[in-house]
Amino acid sequence: MEFHSFLIKYGEIGIKGKNRYLFEDALMRQIKFALKEVDGKFFVHKCHGRVYVDCEGRYDYEETVERLKSVFGIVGICPVVRIEDKGFEELQKDVIHFIEEMYPDKKKTFKVEARRAKKQYPMNSMEINCELGGAILDAFPEMKVDVHHPDIRLNVEIREEIYLYSEIIPGPGGMPVGTNGSAMLLLSGGIDSPVAGYMVAKRGVELEAVYFHAPPYTSERAKEKVVDLAGIVSKYAGPIKLHVVNFTDIQLYIYEQCPHEELTIIMRRYMMKIAEYFAKKDGCLGLVTGESIGQVASQTMQSLAVTNAVCTMPVYRPLIGFDKKEIVEISEKIDTYETSIQPYEDCCTIFVAKHPVTKPNLERIEKSEENLNEKMASLFREAVETAEIILVK
Ligand code: ATP
Ligand code: MG
Repeated sequence: MEFHSFLIKYGEIGIKGKNRYLFEDALMRQIKFALKEVDGKFFVHKCHGRVYVDCEGRYDYEETVERLKSVFGIVGICPVVRIEDKGFEELQKDVIHFIEEMYPDKKKTFKVEARRAKKQYPMNSMEINCELGGAILDAFPEMKVDVHHPDIRLNVEIREEIYLYSEIIPGPGGMPVGTNGSAMLLLSGGIDSPVAGYMVAKRGVELEAVYFHAPPYTSERAKEKVVDLAGIVSKYAGPIKLHVVNFTDIQLYIYEQCPHEELTIIMRRYMMKIAEYFAKKDGCLGLVTGESIGQVASQTMQSLAVTNAVCTMPVYRPLIGFDKKEIVEISEKIDTYETSIQPYEDCCTIFVAKHPVTKPNLERIEKSEENLNEKMASLFREAVETAEIILVK
C-alpha cells in the first residue's frame, strides 16, 4: 500500500487553551527535526486541530515511521491514503481496494468512522458510514460489522481530498521537547546517564550536557564515545549543547590534598558545582544524573545527600528506583547500550580508592575540602573557561 500522509495523534491532557498552541508548535518543530535526514520531501502542518505529515513524491516509508516513533508527544502514527474526491461511487471503489490491500485475511470485524471537515459534501457522516459499510460487506462477505470492538476501524475523513486510514502505530508518548524548559545532564560514557537524559527529555525537557574528562588518564576515544552517546540521545531530545570539561587538574589536586577514601565523593561534589555553573549560565532549571539508590558506594543515601548538598538547583534522578537490569532494558530500547558498553576508561574510576566511604558525613567532607582553599577557585575558573563546547545534533 502506498501512503501519502501521516496523521499524528497526541495526548491532549493538560493542553487546553493557550498551551495547546505551544504544544502543537513544539510537536511540529520536533517532527521536522526528526525527518530532516530522511529521504523524501515532507510538509508538516496543522489542520482542524490535527497535525499531519504530508509526503510529497517518493520517500522512505520505514525510515519515516522509525523517526516519527522517536518524537516525544506522539501517541499514535496513522499512515493515510489520500484520494481525490471524484464522487461517492469512486470512493466506494477506493475503500474496497484499501481493505483488499491492507487486510489479506478477511475474517475480521470492522466499523466505518466517517468525519466531514467539508460540510458541503452531499452525504452526512451517518450516511457515509452505512453506505460504505454495506459496500464492504457486499465485497467481502466474510467480514462482519462490530461497532463496539472492531478489529479494523476504518477512518474516512472528507476534506478537499479524502483521507483513509485504519492503522495506528504506537508513538513514544511523553511531551514534545521544548515544552518544559531545559536541564543540564551530567553525561558520562556509562549506561545510566544517557537513559536518564532520555527520560527527562520524554517529559518535554530540552537537554544540555556536561562531560568531565581527564586527559591523559582518559583518552580522546572515551570522549568520542560520549559525543556518540549524546548523538543518540539527540535523536529523541533534539540538538544538545555538550560541555566537555577538562577535570584533570581538579582531580589531581583533590588527590593530593584529601583523604583517598573521600576522593570520589569530593570529586562528585565538584562535578555537580561545575554542572550547576553552566546550568545557571544557560538558564537551565535543574540538573539530571543517572544515579540510582545503592548502585555503587557514591550512590548510597548518605552519599547522595552529601553530593546533593552542594547544589542549589533541583537535581533530577529519573533512575533513582530502577535496578540495573531495568536501566539496561531501556538503553537497549533507545539504542545507547552498544555504545555505552564499549570499554573506555572513565575519569571516576582512575583515582578511585580501594575502600571509598559509603556513609560520608557532610561536616567531615566539608572539613577535608578546606584543604582545597588555596588553589580550587582558580582551578574551577580555569576548568569552566577552557571547556570545549560541542553542538551535537
Ligand atoms: P553511568 O552509567 O551513567 O556512568 P555509573 O553507574 O557509572 O553511571 P557513577 O560513575 O557513580 O555511576 O556516576 C553517577 C552519575 O554521575 C552518572 O550517571 C552521571 O550522571 C554522572 N557522571 C559520572 N561520571 C561523569 C563524567 N565523567 N562526566 C559527566 N557526568 C558524570
Ligand atoms: Mg559512570
